[in-house]
Amino acid sequence: MTDGAPAGARIAVDNPATGEVVGHVPDTSADEVAGAVARARRAQRDWAELDARSRAEFFARGRRWLMAHRQEIVDSLVEENGKAQEDAIVEIVYCASAFAYWAKQAPRLLARTRMRTLSPFVLGRAMYTRRVPIGVVGVIGPWNNPLLNSFGDAIPALAAGNTVVLKPSEHTPLTALLMERMARECGWPKDVFQVVTGAGATGRALVDTADFVMFTGSTRTGRLVAARAGERLIPCSLELGGKDALLVLSDASLERAVNVTIQGALSNGGQMCTSVERVYVEEAVYDAYLDLLHERFRQVTSGRPAGLGSTDVGAVTFPPQLAVIEDHVQDALSKGARVLVGGHAAPGPGRFFEPTLLVDVDHTMKCMREETFGPTLPVMKVADAEEAVRLVNDSDYGLQATIVGSDTRRARRLAERIEAGCVTINDAQTNYMALGLPMGGWKDSGLGVRHGAEGIRKYTRLQSVSTNRFPMRRDPHMIPYEPSGYRLMLRLADVLYGAGLRGRTK
Ligand code: NDP
Repeated sequence: MTDGAPAGARIAVDNPATGEVVGHVPDTSADEVAGAVARARRAQRDWAELDARSRAEFFARGRRWLMAHRQEIVDSLVEENGKAQEDAIVEIVYCASAFAYWAKQAPRLLARTRMRTLSPFVLGRAMYTRRVPIGVVGVIGPWNNPLLNSFGDAIPALAAGNTVVLKPSEHTPLTALLMERMARECGWPKDVFQVVTGAGATGRALVDTADFVMFTGSTRTGRLVAARAGERLIPCSLELGGKDALLVLSDASLERAVNVTIQGALSNGGQMCTSVERVYVEEAVYDAYLDLLHERFRQVTSGRPAGLGSTDVGAVTFPPQLAVIEDHVQDALSKGARVLVGGHAAPGPGRFFEPTLLVDVDHTMKCMREETFGPTLPVMKVADAEEAVRLVNDSDYGLQATIVGSDTRRARRLAERIEAGCVTINDAQTNYMALGLPMGGWKDSGLGVRHGAEGIRKYTRLQSVSTNRFPMRRDPHMIPYEPSGYRLMLRLADVLYGAGLRGRTK
């Protein structure tokens, strides 16, 4: 374990769209993280004992606070992340809806469940399972959506009766601190929700001390988090990278296909684990689709966000990402790809990459196999859907995929052959807003899910309680063993499971 930062160290936060420093936050040391987790653990007992209605009331205040302070939150998101205002609004609407959804659904999803069994050993017992909050959930968030997939994950953890310590990315910590203010101003019990700002060492310290880790970020760091969680034998849930594919079928409405493609590839500047990062088009419609995509792609605007409608694609948030994007484009060009639109980093101030459309691509190129996380889109012609499915599955990642086509039964049959945790048909990314629908990756894209029943139950431990309400002095199977008791049991088992009366087969 690292000692983390020296006491009093600060981290500068820049605006990726201007290069200006817009704030400083503490670089929290490992000791300070341990202190925050200890306080969260003390606060957790009372928080867990609150009834669901009281927790729902705190959530309702939080939801109203979010909506009342939306412009301040939008400004913070745009300032530290460089995203378009429209992309920031999506984050706020998501969190407001998450407050409402988890407050309403948590009691049902976490309710006691009665169990029945016909086992001869426990006939007549009353049995149930109950869910118990795990304790302190450490949420570690990335820089692409500072509110949605870090604070957003804190909400179901809190709804399940845990307290939360959130470590935002060192590149975008300011909005998380606004959420700490929200908790204070809404009168939430002290230390139920805390934020520890800092770099990777602060995240490591949180993994070293929390009772559960919800991590969103790169596959590389996700493996480190899982390894440490394994050593400590604590559960973790990992939402990692993606190389999400979009498949255009020959019967697709091309207008819809192009709009879904552009939204899926370029919303949030293409900096989403769920971004469309590669497109496969059936040969029959390739030319027509590409003509329309080319025309629309040229109309996409990029630049510094300055209010609604000012830009479609904002800045590149994470400084090293610019080099990754450039490398993927150059690698493709060196192997025979062509750029139809864009292709270059834009001049400063700030970090920008032109929305870029690539064709004549194949799977020898990084842009088709590695996570680019930028406003670039490679498009590949395929003979048919069979070839497309094979190429979609030719990936280490398995987070999401999109299919566009008019025959939705055919699209669903193809969807079920895709190796990914989520597939959307005639939509891209909107599944994230369906909080009842689990969202999680296969293969190198992660472990576990957010959303849905599993998205809140993962924040609990399961306890089984079995009661013998009518205990006899002695059960037939008990020591000292009596042959008659076991003969009886075998006869019963034969009836239930063997070649006895009911189980006899000819
Ligand atoms: P990381 O996975 O390194 O960072 C994610 C979070 O984990 C950040 O808060 C980070 O802190 C923290 N962290 C870093 N090291 C550790 C550690 N050892 N233990 C615990 N927490 C740690 O992602 P990057 O920001 O470096 O981005 C790298 C790549 O990840 C991108 O190029 C992109 O491809 C992908 N990515 C995927 C995202 C997704 O949504 N799935 C989101 C963001 C990036 P800090 O930022 O302060 O270092």
